[in-house]
Amino acid sequence: MEHWEVAIIGGGIAGLSVGKFLAEKGIPFVLLEEHDKFFQKACGEGFIKNIATHEFYDLYGSKKGLYNEIWETVIHTKYGPVIVEMPIIMTNKNIVEKELARQAQLQGTIRMGEKVDKIVDGVLIPQQIKPKIIVGADGCFSLVRDYIGVHPPKLGMAAEGICSETALDPTQCHVIMKKELVKDGYAWYFPKDGLWNIGIGCQEREHFRDAFSKFKQQHVVKKWRGSPLPINRPLKSYGKNAIIIGDAAAHVVALLGEGNMHSMVAAQIAADVIEKQLSHTFNSIDFREYHHRCMHTFGTYLRHLYYISQIFHKAIPSEYIRYKLLKHMCNATSRYYRNLYDKR
Ligand SMILES: Cc1cc2nc3c(=O)[nH]c(=O)nc-3n(C[C@H](O)[C@H](O)[C@H](O)COP(=O)(O)OP(=O)(O)OC[C@H]3O[C@@H](n4cnc5c(N)ncnc54)[C@H](O)[C@@H]3O)c2cc1C
Repeated sequence: MEHWEVAIIGGGIAGLSVGKFLAEKGIPFVLLEEHDKFFQKACGEGFIKNIATHEFYDLYGSKKGLYNEIWETVIHTKYGPVIVEMPIIMTNKNIVEKELARQAQLQGTIRMGEKVDKIVDGVLIPQQIKPKIIVGADGCFSLVRDYIGVHPPKLGMAAEGICSETALDPTQCHVIMKKELVKDGYAWYFPKDGLWNIGIGCQEREHFRDAFSKFKQQHVVKKWRGSPLPINRPLKSYGKNAIIIGDAAAHVVALLGEGNMHSMVAAQIAADVIEKQLSHTFNSIDFREYHHRCMHTFGTYLRHLYYISQIFHKAIPSEYIRYKLLKHMCNATSRYYRNLYDKR
């Protein structure tokens, strides 16, 4: 049996970020990732620049893999465009994850190609690792979430690919929210390093197949990648000696599917709380602080957006009323970011 203070299951943005922040505190850990390579999951690769008082650049601590910063997103609706000013940093997420792994490995051990099949009485099987603290950064189908007895989130579906040409303005991100294209979701076009990351996602997985097959026919993309994503309120994110983070805990904006930056913010909170709890005996470990701080920082906001997404996609059939609601929300968001960065 191997004994570790901390074991992280999952080497996506959430797990690697926890590793990076633990490493900064000098806390050793083992991270187990089932794939041999990083970034095996579909993603639009955009990071919201700021959440609450947290800035992406401060959290990431590197310039590697970063492309353009885009201030405006145009949401194209049946009744005209709606503009939201919210800075998004476009990245090469493969490079970002490798860089986070480099920083994490300054103190931690990353073991690639190692899938945890189950957890029995706190022991990771088949590795025979018994950690004092388990971090479940293991995505939508989290094993750790089952272990702590939290219900799985409702899942939507999204797919993305790289496309070289569109007729859209490459200084803006573009989102298409039209029922004729996708009933309860949206398509996106994110300019990235002279190319476009494009994709489509929706809340109900049964609507996805039709919407995606039409969307696919309209674009030349070498390789599409698809993945489920949580469309849920943030979940209870702790158990006795374990926490969950990122997609495992539904740390995702249900309306738009953004989860990268929330994972990084939650990872910083997780590392802080883990540092405190490591000085406790096993029986007195208590992760409520982690949950409460996540909820306070971004969870309440995600919960509101989840309810709005349900009203928006499920309860309002009129595209005109959706357009009006969207305009109201986008104006409020733009005001927030304008004030924050004092741009105008
Ligand atoms: C098509 C699409 C586009 C998106 N675009 C954006 C975007 O532009 N911006 C944004 O902010 N968000 C976006 N998201 C959401 C974002 O990608 C996720 O919220 C984010 O990647 C969550 O990171 P994570 O580390 O929690 O999960 P994941 O990236 O899923 O990582 C989990 C890791 O755990 C590993 N794992 C799972 N189980 C085990 C196990 N038992 N043992 C060992 N390893 C295991 C997996 O292999 C994986 O590497 C998008 C999602 C999709 C599907």
